[in-house]
Amino acid sequence: MNNCLFCKIIAGEIPCKKLYEDDDILAFFDIKPAAPVHFLVVPKKHINNLLELDSQDSLLAGRLLYRASELAKEQGCGEKGGRFIINAKSDGGQTVDHLHIHFIGGRSLRPKLASIFLG
Ligand code: AMP
Ligand code: ZN
Repeated sequence: MNNCLFCKIIAGEIPCKKLYEDDDILAFFDIKPAAPVHFLVVPKKHINNLLELDSQDSLLAGRLLYRASELAKEQGCGEKGGRFIINAKSDGGQTVDHLHIHFIGGRSLRPKLASIFLG
């Protein structure tokens, strides 16, 4: 078993506030929300980050984006929108080395708050 936090959440070893699950994808609320709506969408398959995506992962990557979009709408952010973020590796500020899409919404992130995920 690897030592990945999100793999442990996927395996049920660490609890999460689950939002969605299917055979390939898990979505859960971020433990430290940056906005009223802040969830993460992750592949169940361990992929370190977006820079390490294989060609056979392209369908999965598309499904992750689609699910993030659907869940953002379900969370009431379809009309006003929000921000979809994928941090990658050290310069990107990635702290958990398992590919994940953030969605943050439910409040205005422009322009004063735009720096939250821009560093
Ligand atoms: P990143 O900085 O893009 O790697 O984002 C990692 C995110 O995971 C951060 O927003 C954390 O707040 C979040 N996080 C860390 N541990 C947990 C956890 N146990 N459950 C839910 N979210 C978590
Ligand atoms: Zn993992």
